Amino acid sequence: MNFTIVSRGDERSNKIKAKMKQYLIDFDLVYNHENPDLVISVGGDGTFLEAFRRYVDKLDTTAFLGVHTGHLGFYTDWTSNEIEKLVIEIAKTPFHVVEYPLLEVIIRFSGEEKSTRVLALNETTIKTVEGSVVFDVQIRGEHFETFRGDGLCISTPSGSTAYNKALGGGIIHPSLEAIQVTEIASINNRVFRTIGSPLILPKHHTFLLKPLRKDSFIIAIDHITKSYANVKSIQSRVAKERVRFVRYRPFPFWNRVRDSFVTEVKRED
Ligand code: NAP
Ligand code: MN
Repeated sequence: MNFTIVSRGDERSNKIKAKMKQYLIDFDLVYNHENPDLVISVGGDGTFLEAFRRYVDKLDTTAFLGVHTGHLGFYTDWTSNEIEKLVIEIAKTPFHVVEYPLLEVIIRFSGEEKSTRVLALNETTIKTVEGSVVFDVQIRGEHFETFRGDGLCISTPSGSTAYNKALGGGIIHPSLEAIQVTEIASINNRVFRTIGSPLILPKHHTFLLKPLRKDSFIIAIDHITKSYANVKSIQSRVAKERVRFVRYRPFPFWNRVRDSFVTEVKRED
């Protein structure tokens, strides 16, 4: 089996990466960052987002695993002091895979520029540098509302515990194939009126934003933020691709939510 390891880059994560790499090679696994069957992320959820981004074009053949070197993460469930145990699992046990839904975003432009299609593991957020965004919002091709405000966040179920949660969105179990739309400070008056509450859209329902005033935006896909000009529309829906997580033991989603947000847990490392 081919594997690769993506480290957060701090000394501690790099040390764990080096240790795991050596152990796995000793077990006859092949370190190959071009075509890995298994991608191990060492760091935090942010590191996992980066590992996902690097292999987003190989989701069919790649499975992911996260080791955390800070606090418990949503994508990182192994602690750094379980490395030996984990390495033996990887080398000896055929892995069980759990799949989570992803968000597909298509940005189309008014000029010659080709449209771009991206997949997000957490979410996309659409904002502007100055002032507010104004969009005609369509759901399944029908006008829904005219949105004016700081921006919008469209998240996956596994991303629902990230930015979405801070915006008052609900937490969605990743077995549900859905996306969630949350508002970022909408302006509501006699001219502009928005629904106000988060919306949850099932598979195949498209959420389309058409700019009504300026057409330059700051669009973030997970941890990567870029600015785009001449935007004609931004379309979001549940992607046909899914991300595969390696599981050697159960760690139910609601337990992660509890341990991250409700129960005070002692740091294990
Ligand atoms: P960051 O600023 O370090 O991330 C903010 C926090 O979100 C970190 O504690 C990160 O965990 C955590 N996080 C990431 N994915 C999560 C998930 N699926 N569920 C729960 N928490 C999650 O930046 P980053 O590490 O590069 O992560 C980018 C993410 O930050 C974005 O995708 C967005 O969701 C989130 N974000 C949140 C806010 C907010 O809550 N107001 C604002 C902007 C961005 P680690 O410390 O383990 O990395
Ligand atoms: Mn981070």
